[in-house]
Amino acid sequence: MTSRADNDDWVLHRLEDLEKALEQVRADLERTWEGSVLVEAVINESDYPMVLVNGSGSSGGIDLAGPRHQLVAEVADYVQSQLMDQYVTRFWPACREHDRGLHSAVRDDVAVWWCRGGEHVVSGIGGLDPTLIV
Ligand SMILES: [Zn+2]
Repeated sequence: MTSRADNDDWVLHRLEDLEKALEQVRADLERTWEGSVLVEAVINESDYPMVLVNGSGSSGGIDLAGPRHQLVAEVADYVQSQLMDQYVTRFWPACREHDRGLHSAVRDDVAVWWCRGGEHVVSGIGGLDPTLIV
């Protein structure tokens, strides 16, 4: 049986994990996104941790209990999809060499930005190099 206190503890720990994953995505946004965007981890009305992008979002999809690199990749994917919904004419981030949008992926237990155009890793999530993207 799970007590209310155990559940609260679980929620707070997942929120902490989510916030750490978000830090990496935020680092990429700060260096490479033109303009400001607010990304934050919150606990929603169903008492479940979720990510908001400019104050909106949905809690679905992210596996909060998975390995850390997987969580980072999923959070990056989620933030990217929210940005595309909100800024329909922009694709962030995109490979400069192949002019193709990048997608989050896990390679050798590291969360990375992956270019499907050239089948290559552009950089780790959180270490996006502004000179390699458009
Ligand atoms: Zn590429």
